[in-house]
Amino acid sequence: MTIPAQRIRLLADHPPRPKGEYVLYLMQQSQRAGFNPALEFAVEEGNRLGCPVVVAFGLLDGASGFPEANARHYAFMLQGLSDAKEAVEERGIAFVVRKASPADLARALSERATLLVLDRGYLAIQKRWYDEIAVIEGLRILQVEGDVVVPVETASNKHEFAARTLRPKIQRLMDDYIAPLEARAVTHLAGDLGLWSEVDLSNPASVLAGLSLDRSVAPVKRFKGGRVEALRRLEAYLAGPFGRYGTERNRPEAGAASHMSPYLHFGQVSPVEIALAVRTAQAGGPEDKASYLEELVVRRELAMNHVHFTPRYDSYEGALPDWAKAALAEHAGDPRPYDYSEEDLAEGRTHDIYWNAAQAEMRVTGYMHNHLRMYWGKKILEWSPSPEEGFARTLRLNNRYFLDGRDPNSFTNVAWVYGLHDRPWARRKVFGTIRYQSENSLKKIDAKAYLAEVGRLCRAEG
Ligand SMILES: Cc1cc2nc3c(=O)[nH]c(=O)nc-3n(C[C@H](O)[C@H](O)[C@H](O)COP(=O)(O)OP(=O)(O)OC[C@H]3O[C@@H](n4cnc5c(N)ncnc54)[C@H](O)[C@@H]3O)c2cc1C
Repeated sequence: MTIPAQRIRLLADHPPRPKGEYVLYLMQQSQRAGFNPALEFAVEEGNRLGCPVVVAFGLLDGASGFPEANARHYAFMLQGLSDAKEAVEERGIAFVVRKASPADLARALSERATLLVLDRGYLAIQKRWYDEIAVIEGLRILQVEGDVVVPVETASNKHEFAARTLRPKIQRLMDDYIAPLEARAVTHLAGDLGLWSEVDLSNPASVLAGLSLDRSVAPVKRFKGGRVEALRRLEAYLAGPFGRYGTERNRPEAGAASHMSPYLHFGQVSPVEIALAVRTAQAGGPEDKASYLEELVVRRELAMNHVHFTPRYDSYEGALPDWAKAALAEHAGDPRPYDYSEEDLAEGRTHDIYWNAAQAEMRVTGYMHNHLRMYWGKKILEWSPSPEEGFARTLRLNNRYFLDGRDPNSFTNVAWVYGLHDRPWARRKVFGTIRYQSENSLKKIDAKAYLAEVGRLCRAEG
């Protein structure tokens, strides 16, 4: 399959450098060797121009580390990069990793490059890197979108009001983009280009030990990072639990969710390949398939749309619609039924055993089911001294403990708790007209089974 033109953007229009020695692909968002349009595009360009491909990854360390990333996130990411390096090198492509910002690494390695290929993410920090890179003198730069099904600006050129406004636009286009992507044969193998790497990814644990980062949140055993593990999990999921997604996706204890979000966050698996596999899965019926694609494509890409078109998506002021801020401001003085500190919340020391269990699952294992994330977030709003403080706490906890945190989905879904992409509901204390979620919503699930499962998961972490 050819890579759809809408996935490719020309960021700097210079001719390829005739004396360039390689096509440089700066891997940042799409951290994988397979089903990666930016990598395949780089290979096509290398083949066309008669030169090898070099993949480069800039590992942020110490004070310049990725905002809010800790040992849990780095451990998972390094396992994935280890997979990526091995699979990339098997194809005759060089892989260079250095402790540097992606922009600095691109600048250093592009001196000998014919042209530069980028992949694409939508967070502010990623956009800053692209801006810094785009001004490298005399360098042809192309960017290839690989981590959404429908390219964000193709789906819509404005901030969408809600899922119901984006859905028809996505549904009209998604069939065009849910297509296979074969690995291209590499015709010019990378020999010894004299490029050095700063860390040895064959041993991710020792790389992790050598980094200067926040170690207060430990790596988890529950999720091993990397593409190999992502595809193994996907296959097992689609062969069984997926057949219950349509009916049981809102039951955290039922095991009907796919756990793909950490792998999607780090770009270790492509949403397109998941969508393709879902469509052809034997286990699920039409309802399972439609529900899953609604979450994976419509909801996930609504989050991409939100962060792309909202400059201050990480702030209460910038992320929320005016009606929601007004509704919450009117009730900011309402007495709170409970007033917990952020530490109480982090440690799961509230009166609500189910909330505490969800928090334990997140803190200890790095994951929580969507249904409980909604309950969890709504309760932080209810139990915090002000909506602004509640928003900030939710985002901090979300991004600190979830393996899939710090994602467009993180910022968008936390803002959803406070009214984004939603509508006014019946007025009540603290929430005003923001949607409320009561303890009764847990009656729809087998909460006792969930408690037992969290106990088991936490014990397994040791
Ligand atoms: C308060 C709150 C905070 C959240 N924080 C995050 C976060 O930090 N990172 C994150 O990736 N997701 C977040 N979500 C969205 C959702 O809960 C997770 O994506 C989902 O639970 C991941 O588990 P899964 O892969 O097993 O999901 P599945 O049910 O198997 O869904 C498959 C995929 O669809 C997408 N998806 C599912 N639900 C949603 C949703 N509500 N919105 C957007 N995409 C969705 C995800 O990519 C997911 O991997 C949050 C939701 C809420 C309400």
